[in-house]
Amino acid sequence: MPIHEKHLIRPENLTTHEHLVIDGVDVSGHWSTFIESRVVTDYNEAMQDEIAALPGGEYIHRCWQCGSCTNSCTVNAVNPDFNPRYWIYLIRMGMESELLRDKDIIWQCVSCNKCTYACPRDVVPEGVMKATAHWLELKGHTKPSPSTVFDEVFSDQVIETGMMEETRTILGFFRGTGQPLVQDWLIEMVKRMIAHLPVGWLMHLGLSTVLRPRTRDWSRARDAIKEYVAEQEAKQHQALGLDRLVEMARREAEQPLKHAAE
Ligand code: SF4
Ligand code: SF4
Repeated sequence: MPIHEKHLIRPENLTTHEHLVIDGVDVSGHWSTFIESRVVTDYNEAMQDEIAALPGGEYIHRCWQCGSCTNSCTVNAVNPDFNPRYWIYLIRMGMESELLRDKDIIWQCVSCNKCTYACPRDVVPEGVMKATAHWLELKGHTKPSPSTVFDEVFSDQVIETGMMEETRTILGFFRGTGQPLVQDWLIEMVKRMIAHLPVGWLMHLGLSTVLRPRTRDWSRARDAIKEYVAEQEAKQHQALGLDRLVEMARREAEQPLKHAAE
């Protein structure tokens, strides 16, 4: 299916002649607007499979481009450039360089799932958006988004201790996203907690932050989860060819050293 939405035409592909007369007919300005055709040569034929290998992307192959996801999308209503249908089209066609032009807004999906309920083909577009944002990070096209940083801080803590401790989670998130550890809203929240919460509860909270309690007999569960996570990450790395990319980067980095030694 061709790209048929007017706002998807890139401004740099529009050509207008200010003064143009053809066979005596003045077609200057708006009347002489042409859309330059695009030539795409760098197809990534594995792209759909790569996205499908990540959690949420499994059903992307079902899409028939009806556009119901974009029509119902919360973010599209405020930013027409946020277009799940179009990105799914690009992924299925393997048009990686076109997708990368929107790499800085794909992560903005708010997971409202309106698209998921609207989709007649059970593609789960919300999952595809998450998988695509994850793919962009794994391939090094974007840095980890704040939500990825939060997921990692949260998961690492739960896997390690079998518990979630709020203060450590917030501080870990601030560190990971480069935010100051002391913020006005945080000071205000602590002040109100001191004013309104029972002393015993506050002491429990403070001790939990310092002592980092663990769920009893958690070690077997922790090892099993770690093994599962490592298996899943290895599968994803293989599907995306990341090991090959790392090896190529390593060889490239060694080249100047070799030449210098010769
Ligand atoms: S889940 Fe994301 S893509 Fe789907 S409607 Fe909500 S914001 Fe749009
Ligand atoms: S609603 Fe479903 S089938 Fe329709 S374009 Fe979106 S993902 Fe594809």
